[in-house]
Amino acid sequence: MTEQMIIVGSGPAGLTAAVYAARASLQPLLIEGIEAGGQLMLTTDVENYPGFPDGVMGPEMMELFRKQAERFGTRILRSDVTKVDFSKRPFKIWVGDEVHETEAVIISTGASARWLGVPGEEKLRGHGVSACATCDGFFFRDREIVVVGGGDSALEEALFLTKFASKVTIIHRRDEFRASKIMAERVFAHDKIKIRWNNVVEEILGDDAVTGVLLRDVVKDETEELSVDGAFIAIGHTPNTSVFDGQLSLDAKGYLETFENTSTSVAGVFAAGDVVDFTYRQAVTAAGMGCEAALDAERWLESQE
Ligand code: NAP
Repeated sequence: MTEQMIIVGSGPAGLTAAVYAARASLQPLLIEGIEAGGQLMLTTDVENYPGFPDGVMGPEMMELFRKQAERFGTRILRSDVTKVDFSKRPFKIWVGDEVHETEAVIISTGASARWLGVPGEEKLRGHGVSACATCDGFFFRDREIVVVGGGDSALEEALFLTKFASKVTIIHRRDEFRASKIMAERVFAHDKIKIRWNNVVEEILGDDAVTGVLLRDVVKDETEELSVDGAFIAIGHTPNTSVFDGQLSLDAKGYLETFENTSTSVAGVFAAGDVVDFTYRQAVTAAGMGCEAALDAERWLESQE
């Protein structure tokens, strides 16, 4: 059987695409991945998604998205895609030994925040450790925090966090930022921001909540504990595109390239959410793009008939 539409990935982009595609009677098959729900499964309170004036827990919100997609007939497969062949239609998508054929595809496999991989980090995620200032900054009003990284994201997050925090310390492993000059100048000029050059975080301290970080000065080879209430890790994201390498056009950083609207380099294959967008990276923008991809795919399928 050839499906009309397969959606790969189940964050806000994929599930919104599923709601629209299902309501257009395309009976989509959604291959949700082993880490279903995407990055929101790692957050606690989401307070900036419109329609939830009292906030909502990330996992709960994704469960609601999923229910809505299923209500209109989306079928959901909990597996990871292992291989694809987009060289001709119908397109082929493998899940282990099982192959699925489809006329159209929407890719919404997202991106994963890079983590330091130091002790304490995983345990305290959502309890003072975060990779998203826009999501979690609000919880650090009048608190002291660190931001790890030296790229544009780290500096942007540090500047954003000054709206809430009483003090922001940027921890960077070298003595020079990778970020653009203009961002660096803004950071240097900000009186709430301090910089620790040549420092790495060796451990994030705390039992139920972050109480500090253990720093090592890589030049002096000395360690020191710094008391803080939060640690924002901003060392980049990795788009989840390895399975599409060689099949679709990717940019230098591995993000899927889109051309007209949500179309990828292969006609009939569309993409939405953080797998394309490294600028906004919000649940609501990903959901919006998921809707666009479903509408684009629906129109494209109609044009093929
Ligand atoms: P990025 O440019 O790759 O920077 C990552 C930073 O994290 C680098 O400073 C890197 O250090 C550091 N880092 C990486 N791994 C680390 C580790 N294990 N331990 C400690 N530090 C580590 O990533 P990004 O800042 O997310 O930016 C991604 C892209 O989006 C860039 O092209 C950026 O310009 C763009 N962006 C633009 C804006 C804007 O214009 N407003 C905002 C955000 C992002 P090193 O420098 O030593 O390698």
